[in-house]
Amino acid sequence: MNFGYTEEEEKYRKRLNEFLDEHMTEEIARQNWEDLGVGPEAREFSKKLYENGFLGLPWPKEYGGGGLSPTYDFILIDELGKRWGAHVPLDVGYTMTGHTILRRGSEEMKKEFIPRIIRGEIEFGLGYTEPNAGSDLGAMMMKAEDMGDYFLINGQKTFNTESHYADYHWLAARTELDPSKPKYKGISLFIVDQRAEGIDIRPMITMSDERTNEVYYDDVKVPKSRLVGEKNKGFYYIMEAIDSERNHVFVPARLWPIVDEMITYVKETSFQGKPLAADPDVQAKIAQMAIELEVAQMLADNARWLELNELPMTMEPEITKVMISELEQRMVDDAMQILGLYGQLDEKSKWTPLRGRIEWFYLHSFMPTIGAGTSEIGRNVIAQRGLGLPRG
Ligand SMILES: Cc1cc2nc3c(=O)[nH]c(=O)nc-3n(C[C@H](O)[C@H](O)[C@H](O)COP(=O)(O)OP(=O)(O)OC[C@H]3O[C@@H](n4cnc5c(N)ncnc54)[C@H](O)[C@@H]3O)c2cc1C
Repeated sequence: MNFGYTEEEEKYRKRLNEFLDEHMTEEIARQNWEDLGVGPEAREFSKKLYENGFLGLPWPKEYGGGGLSPTYDFILIDELGKRWGAHVPLDVGYTMTGHTILRRGSEEMKKEFIPRIIRGEIEFGLGYTEPNAGSDLGAMMMKAEDMGDYFLINGQKTFNTESHYADYHWLAARTELDPSKPKYKGISLFIVDQRAEGIDIRPMITMSDERTNEVYYDDVKVPKSRLVGEKNKGFYYIMEAIDSERNHVFVPARLWPIVDEMITYVKETSFQGKPLAADPDVQAKIAQMAIELEVAQMLADNARWLELNELPMTMEPEITKVMISELEQRMVDDAMQILGLYGQLDEKSKWTPLRGRIEWFYLHSFMPTIGAGTSEIGRNVIAQRGLGLPRG
């Protein structure tokens, strides 16, 4: 087992970091993760990444990619993440839905969407969750009626995070409800123009002031050509993609900025005449962050290694997801304790340490243990799919 990188991959990492040193700012990263949206500078930055040869290296040549190993995208995701926890600016298309289009989409769909995803031009909103269907996704009731040459879609989604700035909605809806079959069997996937007539997007603001959305469909017409793969197979496509999505989205590198910021802070701050950096309790807390991050990195590397070698993954990406999302909470909790009462101030106060980053991370840290599947569901997957325990 070798988690190392080739000489060419290391050259790419070096060239990428030189580019990021020059062009990546904290403001771009903030537009990228705060507000759970992508601001204009982050969008521009996405295009620049493409123009400078950093996007699309592993994607097939026939759709504008470089035909290389997926490792290049892992390097891209890691190096961006080390800079203020940034993501690929147009993230959902690049790290999630694009891969399902490649696997399951028609030739026409691939030609229409993949080159634009690679060029950093378009983004998707994930449309899975409904008020009565979150963990139990198979219970979704949004209805897509087959009308011959189009589908007529009605219903409501909730927590659809990117919809207010996305160009397309990656929508799961019910195309069949047959009581004699398991309910997850009647679900299909669609690509819908996010601004299509009949779609109403309403904001939901989280406690860390980030925006996600309710999305209502009222007689929205979606052409047949926008059905992804086969009708009624949507749930399988979602499940098929989940391991690789976890490997691309739940990335330990994004938590290193917390350690870096805390090291800077404790070196620059004194308490009762002594530098915080010399306090054994402070040192132990920061050391613990590093220990757990190294473990998380090994778990992530292992899951990615399985994916790269096309070996079966049962629980490995799920273990990484649960570990990283819960680790984020432990890390920011310790960071808050080191910062003391000032740590609770947001960035608007002149007394706020570290530009309010830790306060923001603290409030944000609840989301990763819920979004993309809760920790409880994650543990069910590990127990049942990974360890062979029976369903409850
Ligand atoms: C900020 C944010 C952004 C999100 N963005 C998106 C998005 O872009 N697109 C999208 O489609 N969804 C999104 N989600 C939705 C997210 O995927 C769901 O919230 C999540 O899957 C949980 O579903 P639920 O909220 O319906 O909770 P429920 O499924 O009702 O769960 C409630 C509680 O019960 C527990 N529980 C449920 N079933 C079981 C079980 N079988 N065993 C043990 N415990 C169980 C859960 O773990 C949880 O603690 C987002 C959520 C948040 C908070």
